[in-house]
Amino acid sequence: MTGRWIEVADGVHARRYVELDLTVGLVIGAERCLVVDTRGDLDQGAELAAAVRELTSLPWSVVYTHAHFDHAWGTERFQPCAVWAHEGCRAELAESAEDDRAKWIAYYREQGKADTADAIARTTFVVPDHLFTDRAELDLGGRTAVLLHPGRAHTDHDAVVHVPDVDVLFAGDVVENAEHGFSAFSFSGDSDLTAWPDTFDRLLELRPRVVVPGHGDPVDADFLRYHRHGLHELIALKAAMGRGETTEAAAVAASRYPGDVTLAALATP
Ligand SMILES: [Zn+2]
Repeated sequence: MTGRWIEVADGVHARRYVELDLTVGLVIGAERCLVVDTRGDLDQGAELAAAVRELTSLPWSVVYTHAHFDHAWGTERFQPCAVWAHEGCRAELAESAEDDRAKWIAYYREQGKADTADAIARTTFVVPDHLFTDRAELDLGGRTAVLLHPGRAHTDHDAVVHVPDVDVLFAGDVVENAEHGFSAFSFSGDSDLTAWPDTFDRLLELRPRVVVPGHGDPVDADFLRYHRHGLHELIALKAAMGRGETTEAAAVAASRYPGDVTLAALATP
């Protein structure tokens, strides 16, 4: 259950976990710090809160990159604090969190991970109380963290956190660094495959030196360029299938991604 800090720039940290290959973040200013995602339940959130306190005793606020449980359900142990998110995140949590809770409890029971299932059952969701639409700047004291909605991609309410003084970008699940880049979890009914490359372009315009994904180790801008091409290929394959010019099997064979990833992308709305 323990994680591992990676200092990606002075006072800017990614924390890696074996569970779901999750990556969360911490940006430390001179007066305040910002926690980027809080893990998936109250026990995981308590672990993260203690880990943050090993690095800094400054007051914290939290930002959610999106509403999915593994990023946003560990906030209880950080309270009281400001919780930032894109405006769409609040409605998504309010609408779907209880259904998601039942789904993930069943998932972890099936996996034989009763402790995690029980922790999810005991978790109280914390809905964000500081919302932004396009952009918000958080003054951390001597350092600004910029919250941005770069467009639709993994969800319709993705938020990324740019730390311009060190060119670090926390991208949430807009960027994943699974074995082949995207995973089957990257694409769901919440995702917008067609809009995703433009969203990548907006991230690249920030000229990040380090991009911290929502899952996997930190990457660079070249990683985004490679997978922007991959997204364009997936969009073309989906369009060709829609026109009846290719079969699902042929699309899977032509894709640079594994079958499960390609099928998940082709199944997006
Ligand atoms: Zn997600």
